[in-house]
Amino acid sequence: MDEFEILCYHNFMSKRRQKKQTQTIRRTTIKRGEQTMFSITMITLLIAGVLVGFELFGPNERSNAEIRMMPPVVQAAPTKEAVAVTGNLLARDYAKPLVGIVSGHKGYDPGAVCADGWSEVEVNHIIAAEVVSLLRRRGVQADLLDEYDDRLTDYKADALVSIHSDSCNIPGATGFKVARVTDSAITEAEDRLVTCLTREYAAYTGLSAHPASITDGMTNYHAFNEITPLTPGAIIETGFMLDDRHLLQYKPKIVARGIAAGILCFLGR
Ligand SMILES: [Zn+2]
Repeated sequence: MDEFEILCYHNFMSKRRQKKQTQTIRRTTIKRGEQTMFSITMITLLIAGVLVGFELFGPNERSNAEIRMMPPVVQAAPTKEAVAVTGNLLARDYAKPLVGIVSGHKGYDPGAVCADGWSEVEVNHIIAAEVVSLLRRRGVQADLLDEYDDRLTDYKADALVSIHSDSCNIPGATGFKVARVTDSAITEAEDRLVTCLTREYAAYTGLSAHPASITDGMTNYHAFNEITPLTPGAIIETGFMLDDRHLLQYKPKIVARGIAAGILCFLGR
């Protein structure tokens, strides 16, 4: 099974459960039908039962295409408290959330550079573009943003994640880290985003978290002060370019899956 498909596990389980319930109800209906065959008066009740059964089973037999064509459920406007807790997730179209992905250093500078010229800006971009692609495949709108993208000013989205990689000159250093802004206006939402990213990234890549090296550059990251305060933001350093080079350079799709899974976890998808 494709690792990314593991995310569908819960949907898969609920479909199995639904099918089992339907089979149980169908078995009961058949048994009842055999008993009533001996009584003419019960035929009327059987017909009534079939009609009720049709009502019960009808919605389960709708195809996915039909469900997609059904009008969306109109959601009430979120309360101020709900927005404060969840960020602006509820304020947007829940069926099609928007996520901004910053391709670290893109359009600005090379970032960290290894002795052989391999640069952070190029590895960040490969990962960021793949994250955007994965999110879009899962029905999430995603913007691929430069480091100092003009769109970051008052950017409003359900999440913003900036992708960076760590320096190439610290032998022995390995691991990743995720941080949010120090002065968060939406602590619960941003902590949840950090927790989701940390958990899923570790699960997909096998890397350990390296929180001791979280710097001011991460917790006071410039983009956090440019986006709207109600847009949950996080920055991830995907690994150290020296000791974690094999993962970052040769398995960027695994890296991207870990980040995309963290974002989907945060969005509850
Ligand atoms: Zn960087």
